[in-house]
Amino acid sequence: MRGEIGRRTVLAGLTAVGAGQVLGQSLPSDPDVVVIGAGAAGMSAARTLLHQGLTCVVVEAASRIGGRTWTESTTFGQPVDHGASWISGATANPFARMAREGGFTLVDHSDAGTDLFEFDGSRASAAEEEAYWRAWAAMERAMARAGRSGEDVAASTVAPKVPWSATVQSWMGAMDYGVDLDQISTADYWDSASDQPSYFVREGLGAVVATLAKNLPIVLDIPVQTVNWSGKGVEVGTPRGTIRARACLVTVSTGVLNAGAIRFIPELPAWKQQAAADIPMGLLTKVPLLFDGARLGLGENNWVTYRVPEDKPGEACFFIAWPTGHDYVFGNIGGRFGWELARAGQAATVNYALEQLVRLVGSDARKHFIKGFATDWALNPLTHGAYGAVRPGSTDARENLAAPLADKLFFAGEATSTSVPALVNGAYLTGHHTAKRMAKILK
Ligand SMILES: Cc1cc2nc3c(=O)[nH]c(=O)nc-3n(C[C@H](O)[C@H](O)[C@H](O)COP(=O)(O)OP(=O)(O)OC[C@H]3O[C@@H](n4cnc5c(N)ncnc54)[C@H](O)[C@@H]3O)c2cc1C
Repeated sequence: MRGEIGRRTVLAGLTAVGAGQVLGQSLPSDPDVVVIGAGAAGMSAARTLLHQGLTCVVVEAASRIGGRTWTESTTFGQPVDHGASWISGATANPFARMAREGGFTLVDHSDAGTDLFEFDGSRASAAEEEAYWRAWAAMERAMARAGRSGEDVAASTVAPKVPWSATVQSWMGAMDYGVDLDQISTADYWDSASDQPSYFVREGLGAVVATLAKNLPIVLDIPVQTVNWSGKGVEVGTPRGTIRARACLVTVSTGVLNAGAIRFIPELPAWKQQAAADIPMGLLTKVPLLFDGARLGLGENNWVTYRVPEDKPGEACFFIAWPTGHDYVFGNIGGRFGWELARAGQAATVNYALEQLVRLVGSDARKHFIKGFATDWALNPLTHGAYGAVRPGSTDARENLAAPLADKLFFAGEATSTSVPALVNGAYLTGHHTAKRMAKILK
């Protein structure tokens, strides 16, 4: 297949018709590999493939790179991360190194303070604050016990019934995992690496991830519609034509896979489809609210948390105040409640978040409020949610999703990471390791 005329024609066509902006170096006329998706996994894979002496083209459906990482400064005139913002487990996180080398400003968020409120908006007393932290410790002990003994059950079944439990469950479930506690697998939770220390990037984590694109052959605005892996090599179908290559690396979210947005020919085997189905997308909607410089009594970088009724875990919007000194707070809404609000729309979501803040800090919040928005990961057809969460009892799903087919159809991305699932560094590492594996086969 190498050097075949048809392939050259299509790739030349992609560049010539301006279908898709071409970033970085010019496109190779006969790529060894087509990488689908220019998120952290796709770009890291492409870098490694090139480093290994292979040629590739990265095909991205959106009109920007970065996927679920995106720093945008237009709306507020200050950088806002619509997607990932924490560099978690920073000691071993490659983005901490990249940020330092790139001259970005890292802000340690590991020991940030907490502004804790009762449900009625009054400040929690010192005794209640102690109870809140005891609830965290009890929850972590329960999860560790289940994990250590190899139990793979819904986290809600081991959650201790103590005061502030629903509040802790809201952070741990809806706002961290993107799903409610009954949808978290204790085994998957236990397998995840520690998320401490954690850093914010003042200029935005999305901006750090975007540096990966340098000199990569990426085409934008081209959605892959089909991947034919039936013959020799692969044929990747797009509205602009077919790209032929020796192998293909798929890095799209399980939301995109489960929606059937890419047709595989032949169909993916049942066990592979099951793996994607067993890692459905969770949702975290961020609701950044811009203020006029007033700080509303909330500490910079603080976690802003309020007591949630015990029968309503997840039904809340908790905030991070003035991250790295910016003039906005961002609300976090996730899990089932997040999906519900996303369906209600942008305005309803922003109103809800602002109302919660007003309950906590008073009507001053309305006086000083300038504008806000809600991120749209729920309805975005290129993600269908925020990140995947393994269903309780489906321990092997991530490994099965990562397994290659016929030595030419490969999978990477956050959902395939067994050690750092759901996170951008996990996505990056799966791209890198899968590309190395591909190089061994293709070279
Ligand atoms: C709100 C939110 C907050 C988060 N917070 C954090 C955090 O603080 N820290 C952290 O580490 N992680 C966080 N994450 C998770 C992190 O952003 C993701 O795990 C990571 O970015 C996923 O990278 P990926 O390369 O696997 O997938 P993606 O970034 O989704 O890349 C896949 C790419 O494929 C493209 N694509 C989809 N369909 C097609 C198609 N048919 N053809 C071509 N291209 C296609 C998409 O547009 C996308 O660019 C957060 C995510 C969200 C949404």
